[in-house]
Amino acid sequence: MLIRPYRLSQLSVGDFNLVGYSVAGEESVILAPELDVAFDIGKCPREALTVNHVLLSHGHMDHSAGLAYYFAQRDFQGNEGGTALVPKNLVGPLERLMTAWGAVEGHIPPHRFVGMVSGDEYEIRRGLLARAFGTNHLPGSLGFALVDVRQKLKEQFLGLSGPEIVELKKQGVEITNRVDVPLVAFLGDTAPANYSDLPDVANAKALLIECTFFDTDHMRRARAGKHMHVVDLPRVLEGMACERIIIIHVTRRTNMASARKILRKSLPKDVLERITFLMSRQHIEDD
Ligand SMILES: [Zn+2]
Repeated sequence: MLIRPYRLSQLSVGDFNLVGYSVAGEESVILAPELDVAFDIGKCPREALTVNHVLLSHGHMDHSAGLAYYFAQRDFQGNEGGTALVPKNLVGPLERLMTAWGAVEGHIPPHRFVGMVSGDEYEIRRGLLARAFGTNHLPGSLGFALVDVRQKLKEQFLGLSGPEIVELKKQGVEITNRVDVPLVAFLGDTAPANYSDLPDVANAKALLIECTFFDTDHMRRARAGKHMHVVDLPRVLEGMACERIIIIHVTRRTNMASARKILRKSLPKDVLERITFLMSRQHIEDD
């Protein structure tokens, strides 16, 4: 009997890594350890316990099942204090879930849910924001962009010496401009929408985009479940300036080799060059 090990895939995107497991209907969790977040929690793999923030896109169990476990394990390991940013309409049900687990286990672990709606932002740490935007999947469902907020010296002051800058600061002159640099955009589960209209998404260094279905006869499934089909990608990706486009949430109904082949026929070369699948060959290709 062959037992396949459970392993997370890891991709490096310059200064940070994306580490995860994402298969439609089964489990979806992607960690950005250097940015201290998990995009969805899946069943909460051990590695997810190290990040302090869970950004939950929606309540489907393959994305959310491990949330109570995340708080319980962190508590158990003496590492309490995690925060989950969740669609606002889920705060009540999730609190009730924690209470129910408390009745089962005899103890409710410390936990913190922050309800978010489209347009809300939350400071992950100084200079790093999580911004929520609405998605087309379930009522209240969200995507998240992680935005690095930098202060850049205004152009007219670029030639000045250190002491001159200090002097201006003393006089109360505003010498910097705020520059938003989106690092990662995560669309969660979603039917097609005009995401390239959102600057945080279109200019993100890395885009995590679901593409659940690839086969022609899976079109109906894609529409019914509000998911993306490969035929949607050309339009959704038009205008995206992202350096890396990472496809997640592929169904097991299509093997990766044919998904890659279909993808190659569907997209222009300049887009294909930027595309990667999160899940590597050994996880789902050999079904
Ligand atoms: Zn879903």
